[in-house]
Amino acid sequence: MKLLTCTGKRMIAEGTLELSFQKPAEFVFEAGQNINLKVPELLYEDARGPRRTFTVASAPEEPELYIATRLSDSGYKRTLLEIEPGAVFEYLGPQGSFLLEAFPHSAIFLAGGIGITPFRSMLAHAVAAGLRNTIYLLYGNARPETSAYHEWFLAQEKEADFFHYLPTMTDLPDDHPWPGERRWLSAGLALERVPEAGEAIFYLCGPPKMVEALDAQLHEKEVPAQRIRSESLWGY
Ligand SMILES: Cc1cc2nc3c(=O)[nH]c(=O)nc-3n(C[C@H](O)[C@H](O)[C@H](O)COP(=O)(O)OP(=O)(O)OC[C@H]3O[C@@H](n4cnc5c(N)ncnc54)[C@H](O)[C@@H]3O)c2cc1C
Repeated sequence: MKLLTCTGKRMIAEGTLELSFQKPAEFVFEAGQNINLKVPELLYEDARGPRRTFTVASAPEEPELYIATRLSDSGYKRTLLEIEPGAVFEYLGPQGSFLLEAFPHSAIFLAGGIGITPFRSMLAHAVAAGLRNTIYLLYGNARPETSAYHEWFLAQEKEADFFHYLPTMTDLPDDHPWPGERRWLSAGLALERVPEAGEAIFYLCGPPKMVEALDAQLHEKEVPAQRIRSESLWGY
């Protein structure tokens, strides 16, 4: 049985919880992979049971493991919210093949909501490992307050000259002072905003319907399938 011990929890955006875990020596993974986590004990009834899959949001080079999730009223998520440091989870994995391709490809990350988790891991990995892929992140959210890791990405953009952050906020009142993009995340937006889009690899992550729509738009814009990678967060 493989076990992870929780070391902390914090809210990282409205309705969005991050849990951290001690990283066991045998836990070897690549940025973008996921784990299946079983809560120690379900405190509330849940028809889907005590397990869910989460992308590891931290990089292999970071000392701890993080996962981040949107809270809901499922028994599983209500249980997560009450977890205290010291709680021990069974896990399966790490697993998954949604990985950052090696330099020299430029990468365009398209993330909807909590689909940001693999990209936090990949960017932290690129910085720590000294990769120099040019990376663009287009990140769609309702508002800055609902955007997990928004401040972290802003800070990374100041430090790393190969990283360009393009958040878009799609549910702001007209008189809101947000100075940036407000249009929906789309293939058209990526092709308009990213100068290297003609050569880059596109990475899509978010709820299945969003990933499917972005994938179809990229095909419509004649981006070949060989330049598209995707991960659907099944269950949203
Ligand atoms: C590879 C991968 C990576 C993921 N990474 C993340 C991540 O980083 N962060 C994150 O928050 N989530 C991630 N997810 C999604 C996560 O596993 C959960 O599915 C999601 O968080 C919803 O869980 P919930 O308890 O809130 O909702 P649930 O109670 O699980 O319900 C969610 C939806 O599923 C439907 N549903 C309910 N029961 C079933 C059933 N038995 N079978 C099928 N559908 C059912 C419901 O109608 C509802 O619309 C990932 C999923 C995958 C596959």
